[in-house]
Formats: sequence, structure tokens, C-alpha cells
Amino acid sequence: MDEDCLFCKIIEGSIPAAKVYEDEQCVAIEDINPQAPTHILLIPKRHIATVLDLAPEDAALVGHLHLNAADIARKRGLTDGFRLVFNCNAGAGQTVYHIHLHLLGGRTFGWPPG
Ligand code: AMP
Ligand code: ZN
Repeated sequence: MDEDCLFCKIIEGSIPAAKVYEDEQCVAIEDINPQAPTHILLIPKRHIATVLDLAPEDAALVGHLHLNAADIARKRGLTDGFRLVFNCNAGAGQTVYHIHLHLLGGRTFGWPPG
């Protein structure tokens, strides 16, 4: 728990969020400012600031986030196309320094991303 971290506070319950999934390792919430018809954040319960702070022993946790994102995508009928994104650091637009996997779907996406 990082006292100054928005997502730690959401996980702890002191800040509300629209939770769509939870297990012992992660939560999934609706993004408050959605960039697509489906925009969900998969967040590990343990505070990890950026992808660069992941350790080799976190490999299963990162896989777990992706597998749960795929499950949600299937359940929402997004299998024609969806996007999974980790923004890392300011240059990529990271604003909350507790890692989260964006699941975006329900529209077509351009490439390269902006
Ligand atoms: P990033 O820019 O990759 O760090 O993503 C942070 C995401 O968190 C953005 O898409 C925000 O819209 C989202 N966000 C910020 N505050 C909240 C909140 N209270 N509940 C849900 N999502 C949030
Ligand atoms: Zn945190």
C-alpha cells in the first residue's frame, strides 16, 4: 500500500470505483475517462510503480493480468479486435504510477497509436 497512490486507495476501498472483476491478485475497474466503448483497467493489488519496476518473479502476475483481460474481452464479445496497453512513464502518457493494463475495445483502432 502506497499512501499517495490512487489505485492503492481504490484497491483498499477508500476511493470508490466501478469494479468489474476481482481476485486475490488483481482488480479490474471501469476507466473513469473511457477512450473506447469498453475501457477497463486491470490493476495488480500489490503496488508496483511502472513496468520497469517489475521483477522476474512478477512474470506470472503480468500473465495473470493478460489472461483476465482476455476473459473480459471474450465475455464482452470483443474478440474481433481489442487492445491491451501498459503506458510506461511520462513519455508514453503514464499518469498513475501503479501499473495497470488498459483493455480497450468496441471500436476500431488506428496504428501506429498516438
Ligand atoms: P495511464 O495514463 O496509463 O497512467 O492511465 C491512467 C488511467 O486511469 C487513465 O485512463 C484515467 O482515465 C484512469 N483513471 C484516473 N482516475 C481514475 C479513477 N478514479 N477511477 C478509474 N480510472 C481512473
Ligand atoms: Zn499503488
